[in-house]
Parts: sequence; C-alpha cells; structure tokens
Amino acid sequence: MKIEKNRVVTLTYELHIQSESGQQTLVETANTENPMVFIYGMSGLPDQFEENLADKSAGDEFDFKLDSEAGYGEFDQNAVVELPMSVFEVEGGIPENMLEVGNFIPMADSEGNQLQGRVAEVRDNSILMDFNHPLAGKELYFKGKVEKVREATAEELDHGHVHGEGGVHHH
Ligand SMILES: [Zn+2]
Repeated sequence: MKIEKNRVVTLTYELHIQSESGQQTLVETANTENPMVFIYGMSGLPDQFEENLADKSAGDEFDFKLDSEAGYGEFDQNAVVELPMSVFEVEGGIPENMLEVGNFIPMADSEGNQLQGRVAEVRDNSILMDFNHPLAGKELYFKGKVEKVREATAEELDHGHVHGEGGVHHH
C-alpha cells in the first residue's frame, strides 16, 4: 500500500542539521519503539516533508533535505529580544541555574499565549531571549524508512489524528 492522502504512515528516521562549517548534528530520532505516526495530508508537518514521502510503501527508505524555508522558517532576528532580569524573578529571586545559555524557559506573551524562549545571552541586568523555533534557519536532513502504511479509519479522519499504536488513546 502506497503513502497517499488519508493513510496512516509509520516512519522511523534520524533528523540531522548541518552547521555552517558543514558538520552534521543529530537532533531527533524516531526509532521502532518510538516511531513517528501521522495521517498523511493532515500531519501539520511541513508540506515538503509529506511531498518527499508520496507514493512510498512499507519497507522503502528515504533520504531528503528540507531547506529552512520549507522547514521551520528563516531565523528571525526580531524574535530575539532583550528582557530585564526582573522578568525572570520568582518570589523576589532568580531560581538557581535557570538563566544559563541554551536553557528553554516557558513564558507567555502580552496576550497570554504560551511560548518557549531559549536563553541566548546573559548580560549584567538583562537576558537576551531567542523565541525562534530551535530548528529555524536550519537545513533539515531526514533519513529513514517507511515502517507501515494503512488506511485511516473514519473516526481517525473525523478526529484528525491517529488512534491506537503510536497515536492518541482516548474514549
Ligand atoms: Zn481521537
């Protein structure tokens, strides 16, 4: 059975990103114990990710690259903001080890939307926070294998997500 719209696809893969110096770093693995399972055509994944899998069947391997535009977008310098240290105070103090470069901190914008910021730089009285997706501006290299393809059930299509193995368990 081939991958096409409204079929449930199970993948295993490794995702690497490439640094400017050409070095590849593994950033994500989906293995047989923890595969990626989604309904083709309603995965919420980048369109080009799905397009690269079209017509493949169980057992087929894949190896493709998405540029940052097709992936998580360009790195947006406007999404890097300087915030006063006081913003991070909890009960009058800064929790120990919270403000280390690379840490992700859950925050909310002025409208109350949840977002994750990464500590980019610690300054004397302020913090430079990066609200870009961690994979923004990166080329993404996916290499993996199609493990399974099956028809989605009417209920899965109705809910917009996979049920059972690798999916949502609910009543
Ligand atoms: Zn459901």
